[in-house]
Amino acid sequence: MTDRPLLLLDVDGPLNPFAARLPRLRGYTTHRLRPTVWLSRQIPGSRRHRRGLRVRLNASHGPRLTGLPFELAWASAWMHEANTLIAPGVGLPPDLPVVEWPESFTADPDGLLWKTRPVLEWAAGRPFAWVDDMLTARDVAHVAEHHDAPALLLRIHPKWGLRDDDFARLRGWAEAL
Ligand SMILES: [Mg+2]
Repeated sequence: MTDRPLLLLDVDGPLNPFAARLPRLRGYTTHRLRPTVWLSRQIPGSRRHRRGLRVRLNASHGPRLTGLPFELAWASAWMHEANTLIAPGVGLPPDLPVVEWPESFTADPDGLLWKTRPVLEWAAGRPFAWVDDMLTARDVAHVAEHHDAPALLLRIHPKWGLRDDDFARLRGWAEAL
């Protein structure tokens, strides 16, 4: 265990800019993947089921992320499949810790992102940064009130994915701790 802060990684949005308008994105490679969470919502034998989910990944993201002064972990609905299916495409090690959700996509009574409460429990008082496309001001306020350590919640637009500014912001935040 180090005293580095945690960096919690969402897949869809920050690493897979699923809302990008252009079919080909500079620096990204298109993959066809079959994550369990997606397969469970497809009709078996359908064209989509056969083709798999289109995921665009940038092979420079892994080296850039591991070059930051953080301990990386997955905070994604892909859960352990982030290690098996996403890590090879972005160039991350295949054995990062995974935040496990009791349930995915549940509605929160206070309008928080469904991940926020489990993330706080998992972080257990450690400083953390978190990149996700679904974070809102409510999550920021809740974390500020219920987490007794610095936290940076960075909303990443799913049209762009992680960009230079985001890497700079993460580094700056970690170095200022
Ligand atoms: Mg996402």
